[in-house]
Amino acid sequence: MSNKYHQRVLKASSYYLEDVLELNLDKRAKEGKLSFILLNQPPICDAHCRRCFMPEERRRLGAKYALSLNESKKVLDDAREYGALCLEISGEGEPTLNKDLPGLIAHAHKLGYLTTLITNGHSLNQEQIVSYRDSGVTLIFSHHSLNSSKYESDNGTSGKGSFEKKMKNLDIAIEAYKGTIENINNIEVHRLAIHATLQKDNVQDTLDLRDYCHSKGIFFSVAPLAQLGCAIDHPEMKLEETVEINGNAVPLVKVPDILGDNSIIHSHSSAREIGKEVCGTCFYGASIGYDGNLLFDAHCGYEIGDKFGNVRTTPFSDIIKIQRAISQKLFQNIDGFCPARDPKWNNFLKKVLDEKVRF
Ligand code: SF4
Ligand code: SF4
Repeated sequence: MSNKYHQRVLKASSYYLEDVLELNLDKRAKEGKLSFILLNQPPICDAHCRRCFMPEERRRLGAKYALSLNESKKVLDDAREYGALCLEISGEGEPTLNKDLPGLIAHAHKLGYLTTLITNGHSLNQEQIVSYRDSGVTLIFSHHSLNSSKYESDNGTSGKGSFEKKMKNLDIAIEAYKGTIENINNIEVHRLAIHATLQKDNVQDTLDLRDYCHSKGIFFSVAPLAQLGCAIDHPEMKLEETVEINGNAVPLVKVPDILGDNSIIHSHSSAREIGKEVCGTCFYGASIGYDGNLLFDAHCGYEIGDKFGNVRTTPFSDIIKIQRAISQKLFQNIDGFCPARDPKWNNFLKKVLDEKVRF
């Protein structure tokens, strides 16, 4: 099961910055620079996926405490001053349902950011897709099955045509992004991707998605299901330590490398700094909740409220220093590359809430 696609990277990922632009993110961080800024969008979504990171209680709040467009633009201005190169928009809900998103992306483009937008793709249209392409956006469709009824029952939109809308918008995106693949130093750099979540009950679907991507020339990546948010109530999806793929028992940790074209998450620099490749956007970026609070990463830390600061009231110079301290401590206290997928996360969170960890 070798993977012949490892010379591909996704634009604006850590590997893009490290392998294509040859940047040392560790050195940048030591110079007080951010590499990524993550801006969560309000917890609003047309779907109710079993795997969603967003728990129901957060969804019920809607956009009530959300940063305004001007507040979000100010975060981008500040982060750029501190060296941020890439904007990642993933979570908390479906970003394309935020009416401010086009304004935010246009502002990021004006400032020179490379933006990554992760979407379920249901609400896109041709005009938006073309505009995002022209604003330097790397577009990632989250996906989990090419079987329409399985897709819709999994995301709780049965009978609403979400699968058809997604596949139609994928076709539009494939057409719009034609010609955007670059070849730099023998590395194919992609700006259109499908990112699949591997669950216990969609292994064959994930293989089918990979074949689909390769037949269409789209970048493909995979991450294992996280035991966070809604997934906690769905043990039928919970992965074992090994996954059977084409008759072989594959250790779960190796699945993303074996099935995906390349990681859109890991960072080489982090291996030099802390001895393991972890999520680069988390380790070298500030993750800002939709309400302005500084989080541990794009999904973990809402429980902590504004303990680490809020961009509305905390000077950005402090946000940078705190981000560095909390990400170092986070990865010392978990085993893997991502808190959302780590069995030790809840224990660490409890220690933080009980003030048993010092930063
Ligand atoms: S996983 Fe994504 S598409 Fe599904 S409910 Fe959550 S935000 Fe919506
Ligand atoms: S740490 Fe995990 S959940 Fe957070 S941004 Fe990285 S890969 Fe995603």
